[in-house]
Amino acid sequence: MWLFWLIVIVAVVLYLLKKSDTSPDTSTASSPNLKITISSHSGSDEQETKVGFLPTSDGGFQIGPSLPLPLTLYGLDQNDAAKLVSALEQGQEYEIREWFNHLVAQKNILCKELADWLAYAKPTIKRLVDMKRLASSEWETATDLDKEDLLAEFQNAAVEELALRPGYIETATTLLFEEPHDLTVDDALLARFKDTPDTYRSLLYAISAGSKVQVSPAADYRRKTFEELTDKGFMRRGQEIPLEDILAGMTMKHMQEIAGADAPKKFTRKVQAVEFLKALPDTRQRLEKTISFRELFQLKPIEGIDLEELAKAHAYSSEVSRVILRTLGAGLESQRLKESSKDWEADGWELNSEECCPDCRKLHGKTWKRFPQKLPPFHIGCDASIEMQ
Ligand SMILES: [Zn+2]
Repeated sequence: MWLFWLIVIVAVVLYLLKKSDTSPDTSTASSPNLKITISSHSGSDEQETKVGFLPTSDGGFQIGPSLPLPLTLYGLDQNDAAKLVSALEQGQEYEIREWFNHLVAQKNILCKELADWLAYAKPTIKRLVDMKRLASSEWETATDLDKEDLLAEFQNAAVEELALRPGYIETATTLLFEEPHDLTVDDALLARFKDTPDTYRSLLYAISAGSKVQVSPAADYRRKTFEELTDKGFMRRGQEIPLEDILAGMTMKHMQEIAGADAPKKFTRKVQAVEFLKALPDTRQRLEKTISFRELFQLKPIEGIDLEELAKAHAYSSEVSRVILRTLGAGLESQRLKESSKDWEADGWELNSEECCPDCRKLHGKTWKRFPQKLPPFHIGCDASIEMQ
């Protein structure tokens, strides 16, 4: 992160130096982006733009009541809301990403504006996909696997066409099609990791590697985490790992060396090598001469947990937290620009919505002489922004 700020500072210095060549007045930087970047971090001379939050009558919190698009969140408590708001105000959206992601997964946080969009988008996207299926000349005669492939194609095209959606296509796709059947699939696990969110993230990391044996020497950055997961009963280590799994993770060359002169001939297939070594009476002793068992770790199956559903739930809640933070961050940027717009002599203001949904793209390049009243984000996950001309 410090590197980023260093670059920002260098950019500001270069900008001011360049400006001093052309204009005698170096005290008022006229680039909105640079000015915002500085004030959002130091917050020295500028007044800090407030995000704030209000409790709602139905147990939720409205985050950023004065932002262009406040978001209503359910499932979090007052401390969570305060932490979220204060981080946003201090420009620490990046720093709280993991914490917020975990909070969304742990407390199954609901966002009203996201739910409203999904209520509009889901039936609409279904109609779009159905229309593409009916119009397809391949669908009727396609095999099951080809149908799966075609359906993914229709879905992607439908998301692109959807008039109002988060600008970031992957986010829209995950939110529309990847919602887990059971959002609470990870709750039991999350509860166990309530006080050690880092370990939970490591577990997800370990899950994505599957049940393969992983070699983690003492200096490996994952080592501490793997040891913690082993202590908690989620991984097994060294001698506990079935011999067959250790062999399956080795190269054929390595297995050939271990078999040595006992190998009937050169192994040509991995299965053959594994079968041969497994049948030797002293395989473990042979392995111990060439590998350190302490370095080996393997994920255990988790009783009562569907790992595939768990991975899916995690991917979904990551997108939910991402779209909430992006929307609030965009609202805050607009608000900051609004508050400081009076300080600048702008020729006009322009909407940049090139990267957003079809509805927003229609407005791309729209200009105003005075600072506009209606500011982005115009919807959840909106990628439009106002720029100074
Ligand atoms: Zn849009």
